[in-house]
Parts: sequence; structure tokens; C-alpha cells
Amino acid sequence: MDALSRRSFGRLAGMGLIAAALPKVPLHAVETTPVSVRLSANENPYGPCAGALSAMNDAMRVACRYPDEAQRVLREAIARANGVPMGQVILGDGSSEILKLAAAAFTGPSRKLVVADPTFEVIGIHARAGGAEVVDVPLDASFGHDLAKMAAVAGAGLIYVCNPNNPTGSITGKQLVRSFLESVPPQTIVLVDEAYFHFADSPDYETVIPLVASRPNLLVTRTFSKVYGMAGVRCGYGIAQPSLIQQMRKQEAFDTMNIFALTGARASLLDPHVVAIGKRRNNETRRMVVSAIEKLGYDVIPSQANFIMVNTRRNVKPLIETLREQGVHVGREFPAMPRHLRVSIGKPEEMQVFLGAFQKVMV
Ligand code: PLP
Repeated sequence: MDALSRRSFGRLAGMGLIAAALPKVPLHAVETTPVSVRLSANENPYGPCAGALSAMNDAMRVACRYPDEAQRVLREAIARANGVPMGQVILGDGSSEILKLAAAAFTGPSRKLVVADPTFEVIGIHARAGGAEVVDVPLDASFGHDLAKMAAVAGAGLIYVCNPNNPTGSITGKQLVRSFLESVPPQTIVLVDEAYFHFADSPDYETVIPLVASRPNLLVTRTFSKVYGMAGVRCGYGIAQPSLIQQMRKQEAFDTMNIFALTGARASLLDPHVVAIGKRRNNETRRMVVSAIEKLGYDVIPSQANFIMVNTRRNVKPLIETLREQGVHVGREFPAMPRHLRVSIGKPEEMQVFLGAFQKVMV
């Protein structure tokens, strides 16, 4: 607090002006490696909406209190936003926490986890740690989940369906998902991860939250890390019938949610424009990038998310390194698709830097 006296800090805090008054520390100073363009983690570079920033700022005043009341208020808001009863909502310190709770509650040495290959790996890591076998089922030819094969795995405790899928950005069609949910036996839990739901606009895509009412074995997860731009704050949630929620809650640590995440997430939900703005910005920039890459002669998997996968027709590992040397961080290698590069959609000017570097390294 060199540049700012304690008294003025307190006064500015009261006025909600801390963020504006604090000495500007470049974001990169808190990262371990200097990065000029970060397109590696499917974040939203525009950050939280104004209402969320101001709510988090105001929450400083109650930082000395446990967050029980704020948890209730956010669960209420999530329930209202999704048209479900509050007893069907569980909060997580990021949706990653819900994935961990689901792995702990529904998989184990005699209950397998079934996942697509490739998909978001986190749930597999947790299931393996609990002694479960993880069965990988390759995506189908159009990069959708092969739901028939996933449903046919014997001894499954949990089937994980990431829709849209990370890292491919592809979707699994709504009719396929509906029939699959009808075919899965009640003792097998299905987790549909809708982290990227807000970016999808295909008529063949839908959320399965309305199906929770009639499917006691369905769990749906969402996050505030993507369209809401709060990845560093950590807030996500799950929606399922109360018996699944209770089984997961037994695995939970006490009070993992912090007051800033709870109040910021609620304010984000109350902003009627944040999703539409985030979706439009992302999808416009994505269209521009895809068109530029296709003009260079490379195929891009049709994406319904805030990232794309480019078929580079060469091993991506050295490519990822070369791009990094140019200050452009892109996604890691996915072993099932060693020639595909995952690139998150940033701001248009960041994508121009990426396109310049990509063109240079691909010649
Ligand atoms: N699910 C998917 C499909 C993801 O890609 C991610 C993060 O990239 C997560 C869940 C975790 O999100 P968070 O823990 O930030 O809510």
C-alpha cells in the first residue's frame, strides 16, 4: 500500500473504486511465464460484467463472514434462471469441483467412468484417483459422442458427456442425447457438462436441464468461467434431482465457495445482456478466425464453443512450442488427435497476432 494511504484505501473501498485506484500491475506479472497472447485455456478475455465487478468489490465489506447466506442467494438465483427447484442446485468452486464430487460419488473400483476420446480430462483424473477404470470411447466421424458405444459399456457407474465437447468444440445432436438418456439404466449416472452451452447456436443443440425433472440419473454442470468471464474467481454449479445432490454433498468440503465468487456470479445472472454480448463477440471473432485459417488451406472442426480445433496435418507438439516462442500460447496436445491444434478465441486483435504467427510457422 505504498502508493495509496490506508485512509484513502478505505474511502475508495466504500465507493467501490479500489480496482480503479490500485496501482496498475500488468496481468502478466502474476503469471509464471510472460505471455503476450493467451489462447490456451478457453477463457473469456473480456472478463466479468460491470455488475459482477461492482458486486465483488462490495463483497469486501462482508469478507469477514462465512458465506452461508450468499450461497443460499446464489442457489436461489440459479434455480430461478434454470426453472428448477432450489433443492436441485449444488454449487462448486468452479464446475471442476462438481466433476470431482461426481467422480467420488458415482465411480469407484467396481463402477467405471465412461468418457469420449478426446474430451475434457479432469473427471477421468479424479475417477482414476478413486480406483475406477476409465473407458475411453473415440468420438464418431463428425466429432460427436458415440453414445451407443458409451451406453454399451458394462459396469459403468458414470458416463460423462461434454456438450459442446472440449477440445473439439463439436456438439452431440439433441435427438441422439435424448434417446441415449432414455436408454441408460437408472443405476448409471449421466453427467452432461454444459460449460460451453452459452456459445452454441446450432438448431441441433439443446440443454438437457429440462430433462432433469424426469431423469433421476441425470446431472448437468455449468460454469461462470466461460461466457461470464470469471475463470479466476471460481464458480460453477450442478443441477440434478435431490438424491444425486445429496450423494455428492457427502463428498464436499465445508464452505468451499468464497463470497466474491458467490456475489459476482449472482450479479452476472442478473445482467440480462451478458450472455448475448459474450456469445455475439465470441462467435463473430470465431467466424473471422475460421475464415482466415481456411483461406490458408487448413480445415477447422465446426465449433460451437469459444475455441476451435485446426487440422494442421502435422504433429502439433513442436508447433505449440514454436508458437509459444513467438509469444502465442495455444492449447496443449490431445493425444487422440496429435495433428489438431486447439486455439481459444480471444479478442480480435489477439487473434490477429495468432494468425500472423500461425501463418509464419506453417510455411
Ligand atoms: N468443463 C469443461 C468442458 C471445461 O472445458 C472446463 C474448463 O476448461 C471445465 C469444465 C472447468 O471449468 P471451471 O472449473 O472453471 O468451472
